[in-house]
Amino acid sequence: MKTQKIGLFQVDLVLESESAFSPLDFVVPGITPEQVEQHAAWLKPAFVTADNRVNMSFHSYILKTPSHTILIDACVGNDKERSLRPSWHRQNYKYLENLKRLGVQPQDIDFVCCTHMHADHVGWNTYLQDGHWVPTFPKARYVFAKTEYEHWEQAHRHALARGLDAPNHGSFADSVLPVVDAGQAMMVNSGFEFEAGIELHDAHGHTAGNCLLDTRSQGAHAVFAGDILHTPAQLIDLSLSSRFCHDSVQAAQTRSELVHRLADTPTLLFSGHFPSPTAGRIVAKSDHFRFKYA
Ligand SMILES: [Zn+2]
Repeated sequence: MKTQKIGLFQVDLVLESESAFSPLDFVVPGITPEQVEQHAAWLKPAFVTADNRVNMSFHSYILKTPSHTILIDACVGNDKERSLRPSWHRQNYKYLENLKRLGVQPQDIDFVCCTHMHADHVGWNTYLQDGHWVPTFPKARYVFAKTEYEHWEQAHRHALARGLDAPNHGSFADSVLPVVDAGQAMMVNSGFEFEAGIELHDAHGHTAGNCLLDTRSQGAHAVFAGDILHTPAQLIDLSLSSRFCHDSVQAAQTRSELVHRLADTPTLLFSGHFPSPTAGRIVAKSDHFRFKYA
């Protein structure tokens, strides 16, 4: 992704990995081969491969303002024990090198913002140092939605007490709790302002406390939407929630509200997983929506 401007703000992408992920009908259950065929002209090959797999990117955004550097979503991370998801297990990607290539050092990050606490959005919150998980960004305040934190804290305690598998592949324990223990976490409510023009808002459904980031500067507007949409293929039919959505009905309602708000406007959409070059806008067609790269 080329550097994008939102008024006085600047957005860059830090890539962790990008590949043809699982089959589309695994990621988005309920999507039909007829729907995919009917929309192949704009979906393929950018968003969906010839053999119907989803092109997906795992990345963070760096939002730079005149006063702050904010890292949005933190991918899977290196060295994490993710035996139930082999492609994420003990990853070793040059994510920090990619960050430094933007001229950003870990100590430059003022805020880390996770739109939700799935394992692929909190990983780089921590890294392995001498056998311990420690915060990757030593000076950052890590902003978590209170509802989201409380949901996973309870799920984590419940699993521990019953000897069950930890939720989210254990990412709450290795990528969230160490940040809390280090005193770097902030649990916030909907409407939290990082600074004037940058607000976190509830966008529940994908997870119990899922959020989006609304960003405005000098009349320009952008939304960091996390996993409200996993793939532009969901724009064929806004009721198509992903397999990973906690509440598919509420997720669909949140998706529909966002898409209708952004359609045919200059607002930039920065999603959690759209493939490179990632940033773009929603366009309305007669009976569906499409995604157009910026
Ligand atoms: Zn995700």
